Parts: sequence; structure tokens; C-alpha cells
Amino acid sequence: MAYTELSVTRRRWIADLAETAFADVGSVIPVQPTPLIEDQGITFSTGDYGNAFDGVLEHRRGQFHIYCNVRETDYPGSTRARFTVGHELGHYFIDEHRNALASGRVPAHRSFIDKAGNSVIETEANTFSSHLLMPQHDFRKAATKEKPGLQGLLNLSSTFNVSAQATAIRYVEECPVPCAAMMFRPGKRPWPAISPMLRKLGYDYGNAPEVTALPEGFASRTAHEAVSGGGLSPVFEAPSTASFWFAHVTASSPRNCVIVEQAVRLGPFGVLTLLLFPRL
Ligand SMILES: [Zn+2]
Repeated sequence: MAYTELSVTRRRWIADLAETAFADVGSVIPVQPTPLIEDQGITFSTGDYGNAFDGVLEHRRGQFHIYCNVRETDYPGSTRARFTVGHELGHYFIDEHRNALASGRVPAHRSFIDKAGNSVIETEANTFSSHLLMPQHDFRKAATKEKPGLQGLLNLSSTFNVSAQATAIRYVEECPVPCAAMMFRPGKRPWPAISPMLRKLGYDYGNAPEVTALPEGFASRTAHEAVSGGGLSPVFEAPSTASFWFAHVTASSPRNCVIVEQAVRLGPFGVLTLLLFPRL
């Protein structure tokens, strides 16, 4: 779910669009996207559509329709389904996306929210969903009430009813403490999300092997090996070094420093790691 970089202006414009929509449905946390769909006169279906897509925004004869896939362990109202609906609403609210569909120039758009990759339109729709479900003012206010760290991130995930992965992407953007997240997913490359302050300081390229290849004693590996019963494991913590996690920071670099590694297993979805730089 990591994001392609959007320009600051474009990102801010999409955030404002989402947060205006949030205000239109009463500014209540956690956000309920369904009234927003109804207000816009959009029709809606939810069901198990296999692996065909996470969501679709379709336009036929002047009518927009959203399909939301709730396959396997998902269900209507789950954090994943909520993010998918927010994503499809992004395609509807962002003028260029909606107008392209309405004009018939592009076919109904199938979304895969975890596979935005280099797709600008998917990244824009994910950004809309993130800001609809976690409006900046409310998110920052809630974040300041939590102790910086992974447990605080998980508490925010519950407060906003958003997945831990989606919360992590916003958390590193908004957290007052410099930090980075690393998500280890089974059979896939780990993805990093790095706070703007860290990127400016040269910690701009997060890098890690598979979780099973991490040395013994790393919090992420301990979390991976923890019995979580399909849910969240406890949060594990260990001291670490910046040079292990950032490709452009060598052991002898002045940027190398002791950091804190915190990790939790998210049941079958993998391990979420938060790297905190308490001394920067
Ligand atoms: Zn999409």
C-alpha cells in the first residue's frame, strides 16, 4: 500500500477534497463512508468477487456504481472494505478520474488498493481514502494523546477503524517523532514508509531482507515467531541501528545511530515494524 510520491500541492488538494467530504457527513470519527455514497446518489454493491478486484467505480448511462469486494475473511465494514470504499470515492470525487469515466474515454476502473505501485491514479485514490478515514486535524490531535510508538499507532488504528498498515503510512507522515515503518508481508518484499523529517536528513531509502532472514533478537523476527492466534501479537521492542535499515547509511556514517525497533505480528498479514529515532 506504499504510495508513489505525489507533489505536495496535489497531495494537499486531494487531502482537502477528502476532508471536505468528511465534514459533509458530520465530522464523526470513525468515519462512515456509506452516507457519503448515498448523498452523492451513487449505487453500491458488496460481495465476494474472487480476485477480480478490491473495488470498482463504474459509470453507466449517467449513473455511478461502486462494487466493494469482501472475499475470504473480509466482511462489509471491515477495515479493508472501508479503505476500498474510500478509494473508490476518491475516484469519484477527484474531477479528472470521474470525468474520464463519465466521458466513456476509459472503461470501468478495477482497483487493487495494495498494488498502487507506480500508478498515479491509484496513489491519488489511496491518498483520498487515507484522508477521508483519518482527517489530518483529528488524526494529529489523537496522535498527540498517544505515547509515540507502535502501541500508540495501534490505538489510532482502532480509534479510526483503519487497518494497522494504512495507519502506519499516515503515522509516519504525522508523528512528531522521526520514525519509519516497515511492513513484512508473507512472500512479498517488505515495504518501507519514512517520515518526511527522516527523508530530509538522508534516511531516504528503507531496506530490509525477508523477516525470516533477520538476525535472532530483532524485534521483527521475534514478532514473526510469536504465536498470535490469527490476531495481533504483543508489541516487541529491541535496540537497533540505523545502518541496518537504511541503504545509504553505513556503520561508520555520522548518520548511523542507535534507534528503537518495535514490531507486532498482524496475524496472517505479516509483521509491522516501527523504527523510532529518539535522539534526532
Ligand atoms: Zn483505483
